[in-house]
Amino acid sequence: MPFSQDLALAALAKIKDPLTGGDIIAAGRLASLTEEVGIVQAVLQIPPPEADAFFPVRDAAQAALAELDGVAKASVILSAHKGGPTVGGAPKRKGNPHQPRRPEGYQGDSNIKKIIAVSSAKGGVGKSTVAVNLAVAMAKSGLAVGLLDADIHGPSAPMLLGLSGEIATTREVEGRRLIVPFEAHGIKAMSIGFLTKDDGPIVWRGPMVQGAISRMLWDVDWAELDVLIIDMPPGTGDAQLGLAQDIKPVGAVIVSTPQDLALLDARKGVAMFGKVDIPVFGLIENMAVFTCPDCGSEHHIFGEGGAKRDAEKLGIDYLGAIPLQMQLREDSDAGRPSGEGVFIKIAAQVGELAGIN
Ligand code: ADP
Repeated sequence: MPFSQDLALAALAKIKDPLTGGDIIAAGRLASLTEEVGIVQAVLQIPPPEADAFFPVRDAAQAALAELDGVAKASVILSAHKGGPTVGGAPKRKGNPHQPRRPEGYQGDSNIKKIIAVSSAKGGVGKSTVAVNLAVAMAKSGLAVGLLDADIHGPSAPMLLGLSGEIATTREVEGRRLIVPFEAHGIKAMSIGFLTKDDGPIVWRGPMVQGAISRMLWDVDWAELDVLIIDMPPGTGDAQLGLAQDIKPVGAVIVSTPQDLALLDARKGVAMFGKVDIPVFGLIENMAVFTCPDCGSEHHIFGEGGAKRDAEKLGIDYLGAIPLQMQLREDSDAGRPSGEGVFIKIAAQVGELAGIN
């Protein structure tokens, strides 16, 4: 039988609310309930100080949904905020074994050897283009590479890899139902864009972002990976901070354009990763110089040398400059990431900094 929203609501209505004594539906906890290809996601809104009391509720809701017909995978996320974007927000997590959080020693237990975050302080600077091309460049060097597009407000991996409109399937692996990543251009890729048919931006609040992404990471059948590149959501807010803390990459690279404002923002990125003790491997300057396709002359449209100086000031490595190229944009739009040229050099440097052999 296919998934039924009514049956799901009925199942959730059997779960007691720890604060009101009634059930969680009557208490108005359910903020959203969605289903795509058998993957059900529910969000429960709770008052932040009471988070601990709701962990068993979350587990019970998850178990109840997982048992329903048409459900391959159920995930329930606790959200501490009503309306509006999150400020300061996910439920308290420390020391609670039930919270959906990457287990201790996760990298050792899993088949993913290293995770690297690609981050930017704002959108449109080419973060996803860089993430995809770095992943492809690393794969070309012989590594087993995965790409997780965590930019859930505007997932672009499907387009960049030529997989627009594709929907992921699941399969049973050693008793667990896992999402099957797509394989393209020599890498394995997963994106929230493969879980929804909707083309529009997905507007999710902070804790939902965090929960959805860390679950997506653990629930994908990556098999063996030398490295997983995470295309982070743009920004340096709580959602990104929480995500970085959850995923605990071995390091992060920051993508910035040479514009002063973008560089200023890059500083915030460095500060954000610093807060959670994740080393920043360096700064990648994108759209650094425009090479005239007709005469070959170089134009520093956004100024020259600023990113390098800024990286020095921040005490991080300057990993290199990616020129503003028509070809790169065309290849991106056409879903043909080359992973060639400067990306090979930057990928080698990042690989070395991350300790990938
Ligand atoms: P972000 O992930 O930071 O939002 P994208 O990677 O989606 O940015 O890039 C935004 C747009 O800029 C895309 O159309 C992409 O093809 C284009 N772009 C990115 N980097 C370059 C570049 N170096 N030269 C030309 N176009 C680029």
